[in-house]
Amino acid sequence: MEDVTSAVPEPPPDWLTAATRITALTGAGISTDSGIPDYRGPQGVWTRDPDAEKLVTLSYYLADPDIRRRAWLMRAELSARAPRPNAGHAALADLERQGRLRTIVTQNVDGLHQAAGSSPERVVEIHGTVHEVECLGCRARTTMRSALERVAAGEPDPACLVCGGILKSATISFGQELEARAVDAAVAAARDCDVFLAVGTSLQVWPVAGLVEVALRSGARVVIVNAEPTPFDDLASLLVAEPIGTALPRLLAP
Ligand SMILES: [Zn+2]
Repeated sequence: MEDVTSAVPEPPPDWLTAATRITALTGAGISTDSGIPDYRGPQGVWTRDPDAEKLVTLSYYLADPDIRRRAWLMRAELSARAPRPNAGHAALADLERQGRLRTIVTQNVDGLHQAAGSSPERVVEIHGTVHEVECLGCRARTTMRSALERVAAGEPDPACLVCGGILKSATISFGQELEARAVDAAVAAARDCDVFLAVGTSLQVWPVAGLVEVALRSGARVVIVNAEPTPFDDLASLLVAEPIGTALPRLLAP
């Protein structure tokens, strides 16, 4: 450990300011300032409400049309809230404009990095996105917007227009495998960076916990910005427990 503190050092350490290939990993904590609750965490919506968890569990979703109908209503409600990116997302978009960002790997499905101005090709969404829907039969994709228009027009559980199969948000439900292509891209980004910046994630679930190890083995320094302790705090070069929205802009200033 070095430079370990829970506050953002002023100025930030030279090695961070000089970093030119930063890989950021973001979790639910970066989106809470945008009004998006942490669904999966220890106090998460789904953790506290097993009935709500059925809406995002593949086996229930496949088996029960009523679960699907409720899931579409939930998606419509989330979409209507129209969350906006916050200062944390903006700081990472600015890092790309500085030419210092390699990749953002995100556990979030809200699309707020792209909404803040991060290039889509630099964002790896390992849990997918709520802005698209995918057919669980033929894998055809369409937009969430078009699916929700069908729901609003009176189809409680719109079927795939290609094959008639079951449509679901293009997110990784419980019981559903991660997309190998996204995981591979995340591992490559962890292996090939000078600083690995973990933001708003407890680093307790695969594959993100493994990404920290990959980055460390590859010689990157690790920065952790999170309100709660993580299993990797002792291995981090810098720990920050300040709120993400105020910490990131100062940490990542040019
Ligand atoms: Zn289909």
